[in-house]
Amino acid sequence: MSFFEHDLTEGFYPDEVSETLEEGKCKTVSVNVYERNPIARKRCINHFGVQCQVCDLNFEHTYGEVGKDFIHVHHIVPLREIKQGYIVDPIQDLIPVCPNCHAMLHRKENGVCLTVEHLRHRF
Ligand SMILES: [Zn+2]
Ligand SMILES: [Zn+2]
Repeated sequence: MSFFEHDLTEGFYPDEVSETLEEGKCKTVSVNVYERNPIARKRCINHFGVQCQVCDLNFEHTYGEVGKDFIHVHHIVPLREIKQGYIVDPIQDLIPVCPNCHAMLHRKENGVCLTVEHLRHRF
């Protein structure tokens, strides 16, 4: 496979991208495992569909065949609130969002993460 045939977006989540590039420094990143669980993800998408629940973007409608089934899945419950033995509810706890809205959900405003509802009202 040539370099250009590799799917560079595979396994890409905005949560994992550090905001600054720091040379020679080791940076630890955290990602919510539920956002990557394929079964939870499938159930979530079966319920909500593949359009972004914040801005309604549907990748297939916008980009054609290449965008088919592309969407990120965000976990609504903040990681620090997750206790041991917690079981994810794919409809209550997960939500499909586009990478732009997903990145915004992981940013903080005045030290607080925005919710899907907050973001939707701004759109
Ligand atoms: Zn969106
Ligand atoms: Zn997320």
